[in-house]
Amino acid sequence: MSDCLFCKIVAREIPSKKVYEDELCYAFYDIDPQAPTHFLVIPKQHISSVAAVDASNSAVVAHCFEVIAKITRDMGIGSFRVVSNIGEQAGQSVFHLHFHVLSGRDMTWPPG
Ligand code: AMP
Ligand code: ZN
Repeated sequence: MSDCLFCKIVAREIPSKKVYEDELCYAFYDIDPQAPTHFLVIPKQHISSVAAVDASNSAVVAHCFEVIAKITRDMGIGSFRVVSNIGEQAGQSVFHLHFHVLSGRDMTWPPG
């Protein structure tokens, strides 16, 4: 999608600090970290949010979770939180599916 911030990051039209990349997904550090470790894992294909996941794209989403497991394992992170906000009321500000991976501090529950 031409006017999507994260599509532009995937296309290297906007710089980012890469954590991991393969043919299906891209991971990069959040520009406004909310924990000592905070990165985002996104599919390279444009999917607007979890609410747009269906049988045609769910394999890519499953792959994102494989990648989350691999990155955290490689980083030696044993405890972390995965968050995906869907819609404005839930706090979604970029409408390209992304999974926040947060670690390195105590987390509260329920989330705010
Ligand atoms: P959300 O608010 O859940 O949609 O998450 C979007 C996230 O993208 C926020 O945590 C932002 O800090 C992050 N973000 C926005 N622009 C950039 C950027 N250029 N590079 C890295 N992270 C970004
Ligand atoms: Zn996009």
